[in-house]
Amino acid sequence: MTILNICCCRPSRDYVYDLSMDRCSRCFPCLADPARRSALGLKVALVGVHLIYAAILFLFDASDFIQKTKTQPWYTCAYLLLFVATLVQYFITSSSSPGYVFDAIRAVYESNTIYKRDPVASKQPASSKYGSVVVTVDSSQTGLSGSNSTYWSKLVMDLQPPGTPVRTFTCSYCNVEQPPRAKHCQDCDKCVLQFDHHCVWLGTCIGQGNHCKFWWYLLEETALCLWTGFLYITYLKAHIARTWWKVGIVILLLIILSISLIFLILLLIFHSYLIMTNQTTFELVRRRRIHYLRGVAGRVHPFSEGVCRNIFNFCCGRTSGYRLEPVPTAEELEEKSRPYTCLDCVTCRCC
Ligand SMILES: [Zn+2]
Ligand SMILES: [Zn+2]
Repeated sequence: MTILNICCCRPSRDYVYDLSMDRCSRCFPCLADPARRSALGLKVALVGVHLIYAAILFLFDASDFIQKTKTQPWYTCAYLLLFVATLVQYFITSSSSPGYVFDAIRAVYESNTIYKRDPVASKQPASSKYGSVVVTVDSSQTGLSGSNSTYWSKLVMDLQPPGTPVRTFTCSYCNVEQPPRAKHCQDCDKCVLQFDHHCVWLGTCIGQGNHCKFWWYLLEETALCLWTGFLYITYLKAHIARTWWKVGIVILLLIILSISLIFLILLLIFHSYLIMTNQTTFELVRRRRIHYLRGVAGRVHPFSEGVCRNIFNFCCGRTSGYRLEPVPTAEELEEKSRPYTCLDCVTCRCC
């Protein structure tokens, strides 16, 4: 009987787990949400992998490493600088806003309010200072969503092809009118401007607001992988006949690094191509499902303004506020689909 009582009173394993998780959540509020917990776990894993690769180089070859640092300090400093810069860029990108539609609505609304008060001030573009602020736009407060007569609705309708039904570009989750190139992200549960994709490794969407940062992160990560791979190969050349298990670990890490490097290089080339043609991954993959791209020839990039202009807009466009691009008219699309001639090459039509 006593044993039975003890068994009944003992807290179950699930209860103890829930209790400890509850305590953790209270101490670290970011752990309460499973999605944020897994994103945090991935970040810790990524930093851990970077540290392991750097630490192995030092631990397996400490004497040579110290000797090389003494003779060529700039070489070690440059590598450590790239290492730190890559991790910093990773955290900057993962914590940056991809450019949510709600923030753009707010910015447009603020600018419109200023315009009503002071028409001269309206010439200033919508400010991007709200980029990281999550704003819940209430139609009763702002009158921005749900009605065609609102300023935002009119703005979006002007950007869409004439005659497009409002329900075609209204998000069924957020109930806001999406400008062209915006898409609702199921993971973030928000509409994102110039949606590219949701990056699991970064735990955030890649959109208009952070695509440039994402590209720089890819470049730095690729450079770091290349340099680390070179250091590993140098180690193998010098120590191939020494301790077998050390060589085995280095070869295993080098294989993983090579696979990651191939993936990174392909991703970097792919995103560079997207930037030069002003496309997003979503537009490229789901071209037939996007209403304003349906029927447009595959070789025509509707939003492209030439390679140089596309790169400029990609690097500097975000600093002047949110960019809301209109869908080109049929005449503009026809002009873009015109085959290139010798005269076009001379006049740099592609640039
Ligand atoms: Zn949405
Ligand atoms: Zn997302």
